Amino acid sequence: MIKILIVEDEKPIADLIDWNLSAMGYQCEKVYDGLAGADLIEENCYDLVLLDIMLPGADGYELLQQLRPTGTPVIFITAKGSVEDRVQGLRAGADDYLVKPFEIVELVARVESVLRRAGKAQERYAVGDVVVDPKAMLVTKNGRPVTLTHKEYELLLLFLRNPNIALFRDTIYQRVWETDLETDSRTVDLHVQRLRRKLGWSDRLKAIYKVGYRLEVEK
Ligand code: CA
Repeated sequence: MIKILIVEDEKPIADLIDWNLSAMGYQCEKVYDGLAGADLIEENCYDLVLLDIMLPGADGYELLQQLRPTGTPVIFITAKGSVEDRVQGLRAGADDYLVKPFEIVELVARVESVLRRAGKAQERYAVGDVVVDPKAMLVTKNGRPVTLTHKEYELLLLFLRNPNIALFRDTIYQRVWETDLETDSRTVDLHVQRLRRKLGWSDRLKAIYKVGYRLEVEK
C-alpha cells in the first residue's frame, strides 16, 4: 500500500486531503506541525510527502532538506504562490508545487503524476465487480475483459482517481480531451452513458444537475 505523509497546519485542509486520498486507497498519516513531521520522517518510510511551507516548529524547506537524502518525492502545498516562491521550492528539490486554494482534482492529478514518475503508481483499482489495472490497461468486470475506447478508458481513470467527488463537465472535458469544452457539446454525456452501459454503472455514475458527474464508491 502506498504511504503518504501530510504535513499541514491548517486542519481543514489536512483533513480534506487525507479524506480524499484515503478514499482512493492511499494510506495517509497527517500531522499539523513541522516538528511532529520531522519525527515521523525520521522514523518512517513514505512513498510521498505533501508539505506545507509555512509551518510551526520546522518549516517546509527544513523538512525537505531532511527528506532529500531518502529520495522520497515531495509536493509543496502552500499559499506562497509568487513566482520566486515556486522557483525556490523547485530549486530546493520539490517534485511539484501546488498553490492554495486548489481543486481536489488538481491535487489528485499531481499526486498520481509524481507517484508515476517515481515508479510508485497505484497498481489497480477495484470498484464492486470492476477491476482496472492501469499498467496493463486492462479493465475487467466479473473477471471478464471489458473493451473500452481510448477516451472511455481515460474517462474511467479520471473517475477512479476522483471517487465520490463531483466533477464538472468542463473539467472532465479538459482532462480527458485536453482542450476546452465547446458549448452544447454532448461528448461527455455520451461517453458517460457508454461507460454506464459497459460497466453496469448506471447507479454509480451519478449525474449532478447543472454540474456534471460523480462516481459513487463505498468507503
Ligand atoms: Ca501553513
